[in-house]
Amino acid sequence: MPAPGAAHAAASGGGDPSGWLADCVHCGFCLPACPTYILDSAEPDSPRGRIQLIGQILDSGTVSPVQAGHLDNCLGCLACLPACPSGVRYDRLIEHARERVEEEHPRPWRERAQRALVFALFPHPRRLRLVRPLLWLYQRRLSGLVSRFLPAAVREMAALAPEVTGLTWTPVAETVPAAQPRRAVVGLVAGCVQRVFFPGVNQATAEVLAAEGCEVRTPAAQGCCGALSAHAGRLEEARRFARDLIGTFESAGVDVVVVNAAGCGAAIKEYGHLLADDPAWAARATRFAAKVRDAAEWLVEIGPRAARVPVGLSVAYQDACHLRNGQGVIAQPRALLSGIPGLDLREVAEPGVCCGSAGIYNLLQPGTASRLGHRKAEHVRETGAEVLATANPGCAMQIRQALRDSGSEVRVMHVMELLALSIRG
Ligand code: SF4
Ligand code: SF4
Repeated sequence: MPAPGAAHAAASGGGDPSGWLADCVHCGFCLPACPTYILDSAEPDSPRGRIQLIGQILDSGTVSPVQAGHLDNCLGCLACLPACPSGVRYDRLIEHARERVEEEHPRPWRERAQRALVFALFPHPRRLRLVRPLLWLYQRRLSGLVSRFLPAAVREMAALAPEVTGLTWTPVAETVPAAQPRRAVVGLVAGCVQRVFFPGVNQATAEVLAAEGCEVRTPAAQGCCGALSAHAGRLEEARRFARDLIGTFESAGVDVVVVNAAGCGAAIKEYGHLLADDPAWAARATRFAAKVRDAAEWLVEIGPRAARVPVGLSVAYQDACHLRNGQGVIAQPRALLSGIPGLDLREVAEPGVCCGSAGIYNLLQPGTASRLGHRKAEHVRETGAEVLATANPGCAMQIRQALRDSGSEVRVMHVMELLALSIRG
């Protein structure tokens, strides 16, 4: 299935927000797909309502606190993209509108402090590395003692964090040779949260790619892809990250760039649009974006060669929004999981409804995020599966916490970890 972005480009009116606005015929087909509308049935919290608000903001040149609130409440899950028969580029509209909100809307100091903390930390893997031992200590010794003295924002971050199993970890090697006749040289995007808190996912991805005949290059110098910044309307910051990442992978001399975090993949595939107005980078960004594949997408494209051994687990697969709606990668993870002998693959109800993670949404809008997280956890429990498979670190953290809250012992794994388990034998 082609990425929704490709199908929508023709209808978008180029790079012009008023063109994207004009594409909306107010039919309302997108409403039942929108998680915030599903929760509260409020028009201003639907895609159609938000498009109207964005039009008002563009016309007036100002952003009221009420308008900012409804736009902040949008998950950016993009479920409205495939639901829209008119090809409205809501993804680009909301990104543009959020940039205006950041410029025009004076946020209360608490919000500003929380956002400053989030953006001083999450897109910086070196800083996240320093947090890891603190989190390890907090999870083992200090949570009961210091929790009540921490600001709410820090407590929420700590509650969502995955369990840190050791003070140190082994990053994936910069070069992993192909384990059989080489079919391609592949660059691996390590992610920020992924490389520090889920190093096993990167190890598993490199292992699977190597087993399938790919030489894997993971440049240690790579930084953030800019996904979180773009998602929050910090577009200049996102552009700086994008230029750095393109330069790093161009120097690595790879045929294809593979991403195992859905949010990062969706953002990198949009680099051509992000840097379209930069004459020095537009063509490079478009060429680079064309080389980018989600890990499951790439593995299905090259076809399996490595032998699989049975994995006797029941596994529910949950689509990450930025894989399903942002990249149109729906069949490939299911095909890979179905190809593991002995694995009993189950579907989760409401697969297109966001779990509430949505980048940093669960930190900034914890109320709505928690309602969606618990709704998702309930659907996962209904499957009776032993494992939940997903392809995004944010979804893994969010659903794991919601499952834990409901007393469930369902284990959360990345699709690549299950594949590695089968290939490793
Ligand atoms: S965004 Fe699309 S589906 Fe939603 S109201 Fe506008 S035209 Fe209809
Ligand atoms: S991105 Fe998601 S939350 Fe936002 S309007 Fe679209 S469907 Fe609703």
